[in-house]
Amino acid sequence: MAFVHSHLPRFPASLLSSKLYRQPFCRIKVFPFLWCCARESFGAVGKLSLIDLDPQHQAFAEKTNTTSANSKRIQPILVLQGDTLQVFWYQRIVTCTTLCILATLFLRNIQYTTQALSSQEYTSLLEAIPRALQLVTMDIGCLFMGYIAADFFSGLVHWFLDNYGNERTPFIGKQCVAFQGHHQHPWTITHRPFCNLLATTCLISCPFLFLLLVAPIPHFIQIIFTSFGFFTVFAQQTHQWAHQAKPPSSWITFLQQMGILLSVKAHGKHHQPPFHKNYCIVSGICNEFLDNIQFYGKLEHYLYTQWGWVPHHVQKKGNLHAQ
Ligand SMILES: [Zn+2]
Ligand SMILES: [Zn+2]
Repeated sequence: MAFVHSHLPRFPASLLSSKLYRQPFCRIKVFPFLWCCARESFGAVGKLSLIDLDPQHQAFAEKTNTTSANSKRIQPILVLQGDTLQVFWYQRIVTCTTLCILATLFLRNIQYTTQALSSQEYTSLLEAIPRALQLVTMDIGCLFMGYIAADFFSGLVHWFLDNYGNERTPFIGKQCVAFQGHHQHPWTITHRPFCNLLATTCLISCPFLFLLLVAPIPHFIQIIFTSFGFFTVFAQQTHQWAHQAKPPSSWITFLQQMGILLSVKAHGKHHQPPFHKNYCIVSGICNEFLDNIQFYGKLEHYLYTQWGWVPHHVQKKGNLHAQ
C-alpha cells in the first residue's frame, strides 16, 4: 500500500523561510496545522493528497474494487440521495457561527476565572496560590466532565442511528442512512471537507450553544456544557481522523496514541460486523466500560420490550441464521 507523504496542504514557501516560522513553536508544525484547518474549512480538502486507509479499509476497497486507475485514493461512495462532498455557503455560515459561539463561551469562562482570581485580596502569596490552584483544578475538572459526557453522548447517538431507523424515519432518516452506510464505505468520510463534515452537528448544536451564551448559568456548569458542546461538535472530526492512516497533523497522531482522541485502532474495533460495540467516537474512553456493562444491550432490550423495536444488528444476524 503506497502512501503519499505530503499529506498537509502546500504551505507557502515564503512563510516557511520567514523569521517567524523559525521560532520553536512554529517548527512543531503549528502553522501548517492551522493552515490546513483554514484551507479545509474553505473546502480545499478535495485537492489534498490524503491517503487515508488503514489495512482494514484497504481490504474493503479491494473487495469493492473502487480504486481509480490513476489515483491510489479510494473514490468516495455516497449512499444518501442528494448527498454531496461539496461545501455550500450555508454550511460555512453555520459552522463558523457555531465555532464563534464556542470561542466566545471559552473566552468568557477564562475571563471569569481570571476575574475571580484578581478580585480577591490576598495578604500573602501562600494564601493566593492554593486559591488559584483550587479554581484552575475545578475548571479543568469541569472541562474533563464535559469531554467524558461528549464521548458517552457520541456513543449513544451513534448506537441509535446505526441500529434504528431508515430513510423513511422522520427528522433523522438521513442521519440513519448516513451512519448505516458508513459501515459499507467507511473511507468516504475521509473525503468530506471540514464544513461539509461538521455542518449537521453544528446546525443542531448552535441553538443550544446560543442558549448557553445568553442564559444565566453558574460558571462551573457553563464550563461543563461548553466542553460538552465543543467535543460534541467535533465528534465527527475526531471520527474522520480515526479513519485516516495519516491525520493532518502529528499532534493529532500524538493525541490518538495517548488515547485522548479516538485512534484508528480503537475505532477499528467498531468497524467489524455486526458493528454492535465501541460506538463512542470522541476519545473512545467510555467504550470499554459501556461494553462491559452491556449498556447498549440493556437499552436494546428495553426498547424491544416497550415498543418491539429490533436493532438492525440483531435483524441482520437473524437473516444470516435464516440463510
Ligand atoms: Zn457505526
Ligand atoms: Zn467509522
